[in-house]
Amino acid sequence: MRRIEIFDTTLRDGEQSPGATLNIDEKLAIAHQLAKLKVDTIEAGFPIASEDDFSSVKLIAENVAGPYICGLCRAVDADIIRAWDAVKYSDKPRIHTFIATSDLHLKYKLKKSRSEVLSMAKKAVGLARSFSERVEFSCEDASRSDPKFLCKVIGAAIEEGACVVNIPDTVGYSEVDEFGKLISYIREHVENIDGAVISVHCHNDLGLAVANSLEAVRRGAGQVECTVNGIGERAGNAALEEVVMNLKTKGSYFGCDCSVDTKEIYNTSRMVSRYTGIDVQRNKAIVGKNAFAHEAGIHQHGMLANPLCYEIMSPASIGKKTELVIGKHSGRHAVVSALEEFGYSFDGDELDLIVAKIKALADKQKSVLSDDIVAIADDVLCRSSVGNRYVVLDEVKVTCGNKVGAYADVKVRIDGKMKSACADGVGPVDAATNAIKKILGPEIVLREYELKAITGGTDALADVALVVAGKDGKEYRARGLDEDIVMASVKAIVNGVNMVRRGKKN
Ligand SMILES: [Zn+2]
Repeated sequence: MRRIEIFDTTLRDGEQSPGATLNIDEKLAIAHQLAKLKVDTIEAGFPIASEDDFSSVKLIAENVAGPYICGLCRAVDADIIRAWDAVKYSDKPRIHTFIATSDLHLKYKLKKSRSEVLSMAKKAVGLARSFSERVEFSCEDASRSDPKFLCKVIGAAIEEGACVVNIPDTVGYSEVDEFGKLISYIREHVENIDGAVISVHCHNDLGLAVANSLEAVRRGAGQVECTVNGIGERAGNAALEEVVMNLKTKGSYFGCDCSVDTKEIYNTSRMVSRYTGIDVQRNKAIVGKNAFAHEAGIHQHGMLANPLCYEIMSPASIGKKTELVIGKHSGRHAVVSALEEFGYSFDGDELDLIVAKIKALADKQKSVLSDDIVAIADDVLCRSSVGNRYVVLDEVKVTCGNKVGAYADVKVRIDGKMKSACADGVGPVDAATNAIKKILGPEIVLREYELKAITGGTDALADVALVVAGKDGKEYRARGLDEDIVMASVKAIVNGVNMVRRGKKN
């Protein structure tokens, strides 16, 4: 069996998803989880892009052991030096440098000739190699490049010492067979190709990122670049969990395996979704809420007789636990072990707060389901990551009904000073939002508002997810949780204001 390397770019390409801002603590936590998942490489960021990016790549390089820690850089000296300065703290550092090879990018973006690009690629790999043995070189927009020129650049990069050559379908334009043929063409036409591992990096614009990656593996690629939950630029990247579970479930078909610990997939997926604020679609393969749910009676009957009738993988194989229920009479120990089951580790005040909240909900609802436990834990996590709070909610009063207009009275403390405002609106949530806006002025703009009930019933926890933007247009995702939809909305807005106020991502 060939071993396929899994190169995770959740923290680089994934973080480029619109609205997916991660702070430095969240990035470090995800990197630790990716190490637990046993990916081969973590692309931790693009160090020259910003001071924040540099610091988080450096922090991950200093603290996360196991995988290679990689930094992305364009094929220019300053980028490469900056990337090395960030990753050099790792025991297993890696530099990933790239330049576009398609005529379209050469003409309009780089404004350079083919020979200029070729010499830039050589120079970049040479410089990167002077720092690190492990250098990956990418031909951006490879799938729309002239295959002959592409092969020439790849051959030159390998000659300069690149040990991985990456073939991205940058714009997600390839069909499966086309992409597979490109990989075969490269293997046939680059003389020194055996001197490097072929990597692929596919985007999902036409929904083919995973299929294209797997076809490339079948044709000899040895590394797949992917992201958890498939997040990334535009329609995203190849989803790590789908690539891995294809290799694991159909190992004999591919003749390949990888070293990912699949039992960590579900927890990783949830962590990435929680920190980026990007929900996983219900019917998403592998990690969607419905991925292992059987609805039709005939299926349920078959499942009871033998799960193999309708299940090609088990939920346990990705670390998905059976439903846990905390009841009115469950003790603190049960709550703590339920949290551990979901990969949370809290202590001190945070743990006391979560236990109290879960038990309070159990008193009201009789039982608390897994999703409630996760939502409450996330809420507390989110609160602690907001850090020093500029706005603190003090009181909310609303009136609404079929014969009266919606009206809200909100009191908040801003930097310790109490301020209040009243406003009306089309409903109580709108009225409360308007009152907060009156107090704060034009400081934030609400871009998206999403409300959902965590579990069934009118007493269920309400989860509000917002996208807010500050005056500079920078977007942040914020959440609020409460049994009351108005309170959940107000909490989410206040969290959003605090995030915008903090300005930076961390
Ligand atoms: Zn990409």
